Formats: sequence, C-alpha cells, structure tokens
Amino acid sequence: MKFARLVEFFGELEITSSRNKMVGVLADLFKEAQGDEMGKLVYLCQGRLVPFYEPLEFGIGEELAADALAKCAGIAKSEVKERFSKKGDYGLVATELLSNEGSTLEVGQVFDQLWLIATLSGGGSVAQKTSLLAGLLSQMSDEEAKHLLRIILGKLRLGIGDPTIMDGLSFARVGDKSQRKDIERAYNLCSDLGQVARLYWQNGLDSLAHISVHVGKPVRPALAERATSAAAIIQRLQHAAVEPKYDGFRCQVHKDGTTVRVFSRNLEDFSDKFPEIVKATQEQITQQQAIFEGEAIAFNPQTGDFYPFQVTVQRKRKHKIDEMQEKVPLKLVAFDLLYLDGQDYTTETYTSRRQKLREIVLPGDVLSVTEVLETSSANELEAFFFDKVQRGLEGIVAKRPDATYQAGARNFNWIKLKRSYQGELQDTLDCVVVGYWWGRGQRTQFGIGSLLTAVYDKDTDRFYTIARLGTGLTEIEWVQMREELDQLKVDGKPARVEAIVAPDVWVEPKHVIEIQADEITRSPLHTAGRKGDDLGFALRFPRMVNFIRADRTAEEATSVQEILAMFEAQGKRQGQQETES
Ligand code: ATP
Repeated sequence: MKFARLVEFFGELEITSSRNKMVGVLADLFKEAQGDEMGKLVYLCQGRLVPFYEPLEFGIGEELAADALAKCAGIAKSEVKERFSKKGDYGLVATELLSNEGSTLEVGQVFDQLWLIATLSGGGSVAQKTSLLAGLLSQMSDEEAKHLLRIILGKLRLGIGDPTIMDGLSFARVGDKSQRKDIERAYNLCSDLGQVARLYWQNGLDSLAHISVHVGKPVRPALAERATSAAAIIQRLQHAAVEPKYDGFRCQVHKDGTTVRVFSRNLEDFSDKFPEIVKATQEQITQQQAIFEGEAIAFNPQTGDFYPFQVTVQRKRKHKIDEMQEKVPLKLVAFDLLYLDGQDYTTETYTSRRQKLREIVLPGDVLSVTEVLETSSANELEAFFFDKVQRGLEGIVAKRPDATYQAGARNFNWIKLKRSYQGELQDTLDCVVVGYWWGRGQRTQFGIGSLLTAVYDKDTDRFYTIARLGTGLTEIEWVQMREELDQLKVDGKPARVEAIVAPDVWVEPKHVIEIQADEITRSPLHTAGRKGDDLGFALRFPRMVNFIRADRTAEEATSVQEILAMFEAQGKRQGQQETES
C-alpha cells in the first residue's frame, strides 16, 4: 500500500465521529493490506512503530521538526516557528508550507525510514535524524507530511483506540465483529496488536489460538471487581483464598536467564526504576524463565512496616534512582505466577499457580509471597480484613481458588474489599481529564479553574463525562495540570468523547486522576451511563486525591460498567442503613 493511500484513510478517520463508521473505515483500510503490511499498518494507526511496551521513541522534538520543515520548505526556522505559534500543530504548518504532488512511497518504505530515525543514536545522530526527516518530507504531499509529523511528534489523533482497531480487523476479515473476542484474547496475552493483526490476517483465526504468554512480552493484567462486605464475597465465591491488598505499584516481572524486565500495570518498562527488584529476582528465583506478578511497596527498613502509597509513589521518578533506592527501598510481595520454564501457568488454577509460586521464590530480603487465608466463613474473612486494615494496608483481595488467570479481564475471580472512606462511596474512581474551564476569581492567575472528567466504555471505545471537578489540587498542581493539558489541546470535542457540557478547552483523553466523591447521583449534565430516558451518572462533591497517574492509560480508567455497579451497591448500602435506623 502506498503511504499516500494510508493517509487518505487517516484523513477520513479524522473527520468521522461515528464509531461504526470508524470501524468501517478501518476495515476498508485493512482489506487493502498486502503481504506482511498488516502489522505495520496497525502500529502506525497506534501512532507507533512497536507495541506500547517497547520504549522506542523517535527522539525528535518540536525544535528538530521545525528544523526539518524549514530545510525542506527553504525558509527560515523562525518563520516555521511563527506559523506554529498560530496553528499549534506542526502537521498543519506542513500543509501550509509544502505543496508537492505526493510521494510514491510504500508504507513499508516510510516505516523503515521512521525506524531508522528512531534507532539512530550517539554522536551526530540528531543531525542525521533531522536530515532523514527532511528527506522524507521533501518527497511527500502536504497531507502525507502532516500525518508523518504527527506520528513523529506523538500527536496523531485519529480518535481510535485498540478496541476500535480490533473491531476493524474482525470486520475486514469476516464482515462483522464476531471474531473480536478471539483477537482480544490473543492481544491480552501478548500485548502486541501488530503481531496479532499480522497473524490473524495471514493465517486466520485459528492461528491466534497458538498465541500464549511469552517471556519479554507483558501480559495484560487480570483485574478485580469490587465488593462492599465480607458476606457478599462469600455469597459469590462460597470458598475464597484471601490475600492482603498492598497499596503500591503492580509489577509484572519477566525473567529470562540473567535478563529481568519489570513492567508496570500499564505495561511500561520500569526495570531501570526498580533495580532492587531486578537484582532480587536474579538472586531469589533460580529458574531460567519466569513471569510473575506482585505489588512493589516501600517499607521502613528499621521496623519492616509498609508505607502508604504516597511514599511508594516517590519511586516513580526517573532520576537519582540510587538515592531514591536508599531513601525509599522497595519490597515486592508476589501474588501470582503466569509462566515458568516453558509452561504457561495462566491456564492453571489459582491454587496450583500459588503453590508453584511459593516453591520458586527463595527466602531473601526483597521478594516474598503474599500470605493467604482460605476460608468459607464471612466472619473469618471479615476478621482478616480488619486485621489488615489495622496494619495500615488497603484491604484484601479474595480470589476464586479454581479460576485460571484471565488476562486483561476484570471479573469476580478476584474481588477487592477496601477500607471504607469517610464518604458514602467506598472506593475512589480513576477518571480521564477531557477538558478544562478557565478559572474565575483567584484561579484566573492559573488560567484553569476546573476539570471535565470522564470514564471509559471498552465496548464503544468512548469516554463519557461524569464530573466537573474543582477541588483537591494544590496551586502547584493546577499550574502543572494546565501545562500538561495544554499539550493535548484540540479545537473541538475529541471524537471519542461523549459530552453534553462543553468546557472552555477540550483536550485529548490521556491523563487519569484519582477522584474521591461522596456519592454517585443521576444528572442531566453528564453522559456516563445515560441510556434512553435514563439520566447519566455524576459525582457528588468530587475532589482529586491523586494527581495524574502515570501507571494508568486513559483506557484503564474506571469503566461505565463499574460506575453502574458502584451506584447499585451504594443503593443497597443506603437501603440497609435505612432499615437499620
Ligand atoms: P486499585 O486502585 O484498587 O488498586 P486497580 O484498578 O489498580 O485498583 P484492581 O484490579 O481493581 O486494580 O485491584 C487489584 C490491584 O490491587 C492490582 O492491580 C494490584 O496492583 C493490587 N494488589 C495488591 N495486593 C494484591 C494481591 N494480593 N492480589 C492481587 N492484587 C493486589
């Protein structure tokens, strides 16, 4: 496929806001894939060259993009920058400056050049990158150049997420979305949509059945549902394996001989940030290959007590890692085993995974395995829960002993019960910021006064608004928030956002903040959970309790389905209180 053809599809996606139409456009695009192009097409739709977990960056910022554009348009860099200050998008600046006919470049050729740009390093590489980019741009039409620059600068905004791409793949092959589930299953196991798409396209659905966990490729994590009482957990599971819930960073550790990689909950490579976990895995696990999960949590070396999340979170920093390791040492409490020396453990039961996990983690200072209580008694479970809460932990996670590990799924195989907050709502929500309002009064000085926040629905690949939030941020955080959001500013409502209210500034859904609220109510102002005549859900007295969460992508925000479950649970609790009083 020609790159020019690919950007025609990108152009169509840009102006489409109906999800069904987007799926249709993607299906048409995929149908034109030739040979082994499919993987590359999917990565480019994701604005990347590699799966999300591979930290390959282009290493080209706005300055270099301006250099390259100035070079191929034959004008001064200052003029390019001036145009950028008006347009705010180098893609649009390119459309003003370039007027070539269009290239005959194939998608594969452009991909290879981009690969070269991304992998060049060392002395002189900056100049080489710029001249490669200028060389590419000079062959391209304005539309090609627009999208190429957006890809390179990480600003490709097609309004599609992975679920839409997966639907598009299924439609391309069988004309409906009946194969999406199997595509998703494969994606959950290897986290590489390009690889899944290539296999699916070339060898059909059956080939996806052979995808299984692989050391070095992070598995999308299994997630927990919520419960509001010990009795509710026992009612659902009958018999449960109950573990303490530690409040730190979820880590998925991949050991391959002496190489150890640590992936975060959203599959980012944290190996450099957590050297003690890398070292401990080399020392405390002797098997050649293993994948296991656990929670990394800061502790007090004098008392051995775990610290709250606010302390652990300091280990997210990229700099002065040695110093941080001294000041805030981590332990990793392992709670699951996914793979061991050639054997896929995700298809084993919790009981057998756990037994093996206990066997392979040798005694040592950093790695340990969670304690567990096996019980069928709600009273016993409750006592365990209170004991953990008293020790400063977050609560418990109850697990179904005969369940396999279901990658990427949030279901009742794991149920979390957390210590109550003061308000009515027992749990916090992770919401995506989709816009902001300029401030009034004191906030005018920051140019930001409140945030429009949303939750996510995987089925529709859309964000639905749930709250306007104006409290919980310090002055410094407001300033920082504005800086972060201004990088994501868009002219109108982003295609994937469903909203009734309009903020002063719309932003691409990217940043997730943690919100505490008193209650979930019904409201005509918001779209989360709105159906037919039913009003949407809104949060009463929302306040931010955790600034932008680096460990969460927008698609990992709280889901509309979870909001509905929380709303129903809240109704039950209120009903109980009324009958008790
Ligand atoms: P939360 O913000 O409540 O941690 P979450 O969306 O990150 O929620 P959930 O699947 O809802 O994730 O809750 C399980 C999380 O709890 C895991 O992602 C993990 O980070 C953490 N955790 C702590 N201790 C355990 C444990 N013993 N077993 C499983 N998960 C645990």
